[in-house]
Amino acid sequence: MNQDCLFCKIVAGQIPADKLYEDDEVIAFRDISPQAPVHFLVIPKKHIVGPAFIEAEDEQLIGKMLRVGARIAAELGVVNGYRLVFNNGDDGGQTVFHLHLHVLGGRQMHWPPG
Ligand code: 5GP
Ligand code: ZN
Repeated sequence: MNQDCLFCKIVAGQIPADKLYEDDEVIAFRDISPQAPVHFLVIPKKHIVGPAFIEAEDEQLIGKMLRVGARIAAELGVVNGYRLVFNNGDDGGQTVFHLHLHVLGGRQMHWPPG
């Protein structure tokens, strides 16, 4: 755990979150500032700074994040499609430096994103 990391604190239960799923490797919770009717995050429990810091040993974990995100979206009734986003670094709009997959749905998404 990184003591200064917001999402590590959510993993540790030190900060509350509206959890949708948890197992030994990942946790999913609703975004505190939703940008769509459904907006939740899937994160690894392991502290990975962001997409640029994914290592070969993490590849299976990243695949699991995608699979968990898709399953939760289906469980929440998001049947008409959704947007999956990994922001990387400052220009990518990353504000929390613990890897997270955004899942956004429940409305029409636009392209290109802002
Ligand atoms: P980023 O901009 O790094 O891709 O996304 C970080 C996301 O984390 C943002 O959408 C932001 O609303 C969300 N977020 C920031 N702090 C908290 C928090 O304390 N709890 C929850 N549930 N989401 C948070
Ligand atoms: Zn962390």
